[in-house]
Amino acid sequence: MIIPKENRLTEEQEKELKEITSEFGIKLQTIKGDIRTIYAMVGDERNTLLIKRVEGLSYIDRVDTIQKPYKLMAKDNELASHRIMAGGKVIGNGHFTVIAGHCTIDHNNPQFFLETAHAVKEAGGDIIRGGVWKPRTSPYSFQGTLKNLDILMEAKAQTGLPVDTEVMDSEQLKAALDAGVDMLQVGARNALNYGLLKEIGQQVHGRDTVVLLKRGMHMGGVDEFILAAEYIVSAGCPNIVLTPRGTQPTMDGYRNHPDESITLLLKERTWAPVLVDPSHSVGKAAYVPFAALAAAAYGADGLIIESHVNPTHGIGDDPKQAVKPEVLATIIRDARAIHEMLRPTLKKITASAA
Ligand code: PEP
Ligand code: MN
Repeated sequence: MIIPKENRLTEEQEKELKEITSEFGIKLQTIKGDIRTIYAMVGDERNTLLIKRVEGLSYIDRVDTIQKPYKLMAKDNELASHRIMAGGKVIGNGHFTVIAGHCTIDHNNPQFFLETAHAVKEAGGDIIRGGVWKPRTSPYSFQGTLKNLDILMEAKAQTGLPVDTEVMDSEQLKAALDAGVDMLQVGARNALNYGLLKEIGQQVHGRDTVVLLKRGMHMGGVDEFILAAEYIVSAGCPNIVLTPRGTQPTMDGYRNHPDESITLLLKERTWAPVLVDPSHSVGKAAYVPFAALAAAAYGADGLIIESHVNPTHGIGDDPKQAVKPEVLATIIRDARAIHEMLRPTLKKITASAA
């Protein structure tokens, strides 16, 4: 990583730097934070000749070649001061952000989604979620449809709240960005799809769009999750949110193995806001409030919850795991109270961590 003397380089300085790094077969990737721009070298940057050349430039402070598994996501990276905002709503930074809405939008019954969107706003939610396209286990199940994108954007227009949806390929990514979706979700099934992670990072580069990365259901160590996020950030998008959502179940009962407790570890190691998904973790509406409050107690910066005005008429996961808006309102109130109560303690723990 190249550390310039000023917060960012001029166009000519950047051009010169690019020429030097490319002589050594290294790509210079810029990542624009709201305060600083980070200049990352993609490739083996430990070439002493290269380091000498770069450090010899009058506008460069130093080259940081510390070999950690992840660099940009690390707590001590300058991106830690980068503020993440989705459609004008602050994420993290002391605010407890709540995303809520349908698992899946039903284009045959758009009124349900619009009613839910208003109810989410009423309940105190910040961002509306709605699946336009869905990753389904069976190729014969409803896969979502582009028509849902209009309904999602209608909900944004009516409520004034930002919107979130999952994208699984380039075509969906382009459609969502063109429509003005504020937050793109990378689902658990694609959390290790490095090609997609890179492409999302590249396409979001220079935009305010936020990427919410779910923890893959087969992921092991915490660092594997952080490294997946590093793919997105190193491709140019610093607006990243981490979402534990349960991993492959190791016992009967819950849909997945609840993993909200890894929030503390993520917060010790990285600067990224952590928004926990209790819905897919426990997988049953009645359990969701408990998992949601546990996530707040483990230091989450917020939640992403499936909610529906009429879950039995929902599709996808909604009949099983969506909570009604009145339950959502209680969760939001109680989780924010827990967050406030524990904030000073959490600050001490994460500040002193390695
Ligand atoms: C979802 O959010 O509806 C979803 C499919 O999530 P996950 O990728 O966590 O399974
Ligand atoms: Mn779902």
